[in-house]
Amino acid sequence: MGEFFESKAGKQLAALVAGALFLWTVGLVWHVHIFGTFRQFAGDTTDMLFLTFFVAGLASFIYSLLRIFDLRKEMLRQQEHGKRAHWIATHDHLTRLPNRYAFEKFEVVQALRDDENNSLPTATVFSVDLDGFKKVNDLVGHQGGDLLLQEVSKRLSALAAESCVFRFGGDEFIVVARGLAADKDERFAKLIIHSVSRSIRIGSIWCQVGASVGYARWPEQGQTLNDVCHRSDIALYEAKSRGANTAMMFHEEMQLKVTARAKLEGQLRDAIEAGHIRPFYQPLVDLRSGDVCGFEALARWTDEDGISVSPQVFISIAEETGLITPLFQQLLKTACSDAKHWPEHVSLSFNLSAVQMEDRLLTSRILKILDDAGLDPGRLEVEITENALIQDPELAASIVDDLHKAGIQIALDDFGTGYSSLAQLARYRFDKIKIDKSFVKASRDHDDRHEKIVQALLNLSRGLEIKTTVEGIEENGQMAYFVHEGCDIGQGYLFGKAMPFADTLLFLRDRRDVLKAG
Ligand code: C2E
Ligand code: CA
Ligand code: CA
Repeated sequence: MGEFFESKAGKQLAALVAGALFLWTVGLVWHVHIFGTFRQFAGDTTDMLFLTFFVAGLASFIYSLLRIFDLRKEMLRQQEHGKRAHWIATHDHLTRLPNRYAFEKFEVVQALRDDENNSLPTATVFSVDLDGFKKVNDLVGHQGGDLLLQEVSKRLSALAAESCVFRFGGDEFIVVARGLAADKDERFAKLIIHSVSRSIRIGSIWCQVGASVGYARWPEQGQTLNDVCHRSDIALYEAKSRGANTAMMFHEEMQLKVTARAKLEGQLRDAIEAGHIRPFYQPLVDLRSGDVCGFEALARWTDEDGISVSPQVFISIAEETGLITPLFQQLLKTACSDAKHWPEHVSLSFNLSAVQMEDRLLTSRILKILDDAGLDPGRLEVEITENALIQDPELAASIVDDLHKAGIQIALDDFGTGYSSLAQLARYRFDKIKIDKSFVKASRDHDDRHEKIVQALLNLSRGLEIKTTVEGIEENGQMAYFVHEGCDIGQGYLFGKAMPFADTLLFLRDRRDVLKAG
């Protein structure tokens, strides 16, 4: 009640009651003055009642008017609030573009229907994803990255009609082009790429990003715009896998590929849970003594249909889906307990994925597994590819450092195939480099230039006192060449393919027998 009298309506009511009382009193006095004594008037109840009702009615009328006026104001305010809330819910506040929610609601379809000039009732949905945005963000900071997104939004908006460019979050945009003839789609996609990839000035820095584009048509490739958008996203995924600044139109095979991948992803999840993915071991041979000095653990998976899935396929799915950590832990646990059965001088090499180099807990995870298995950290060697080191070089450097401190050996895998081999050698301390098998193939073909590169690589590692392993040795001639060049360790089908643990024990025994006999 107290609150009511503090409100505007309460105060108005109090003021009106006071005013009405005042009016009533004035009316009374006026009546007495006209008609004589108060006694006379008080006796005339009809007049008294009339005056009371008149004053009360007048006050109520004024109060109602005020309330109606307030109500109208409130309604307008609510409408304004509603509009604002709707705008916030349907727009991205950074670029001021409509968002995914707006797209999913009816706005776009409505816009298409409302467009009377649209002689062709068609639309092409372009899914656009920036290439290299993260790098620019790292270079110019988040504020700079925001400016870049705003500029990209402006450029895209200049290409399409109003309300037909959406930001779906991050560096993902959707452009809906109405009434575009089918043979113009590709040109429009290229126009998007061209427009986005023009340099952008942020402060004093000129930056450049690329764009990958996937597109699909409505109504040919989907009943609703949301269906079409789903398809243009699939085409975008495919375009992205082909490298920066690529545009691709949706085709049914892409859908099949996505479905197959989703199925494989489900099977992979189940296989990890059931422990069906096992490490096999490929021997590493000391090229001077011919003795086995280690085994590289390579993941092997045979799916429900009895088909063996390439690790290149399932490891990349595991990386993308975050399954790599449980898979890695499971494989490393098994490998460490297997390695304990090998002689002391035989080490275990284990591959690390690029995404694992973003895991701050990696070293402690590895140490925990080694500790549980009772394997000396000095017997473990992790293989890291060059590309894994460039994602987040600072973090990678600190992980490499921690691994070193823990006594774990580190090998640079697939050396010569990555981005900046020499820069990596200067920056990190490696115990070993593994020369990629593509160089071995070349040496077999007697490619003079490749031979010179291999010799330079071997000289470099000798100078840096880093051991070298050469992978992919398949023939005696190749082995002889690398022995002659002073390479330390060899790996390849000539010595042995990856084998199950039980076979490693036989392999070690046979190899010892051969060496003894030799
Ligand atoms: P990688 O680390 O470079 O492994 C060497 C690959 O070369 C293996 O293929 C191996 O079977 C193959 N190889 C070995 N010797 C020869 C040879 O003489 N000739 C030819 N042509 N190939 C040879 P694989 O097992 O198919 O593995 C492919 C890649 O998958 C590996 O390349 C590695 O990057 C990844 N991978 C395998 N297992 C794991 C794992 O447990 N974790 C992670 N993160 N990656 C793994
Ligand atoms: Ca490897
Ligand atoms: Ca390799």
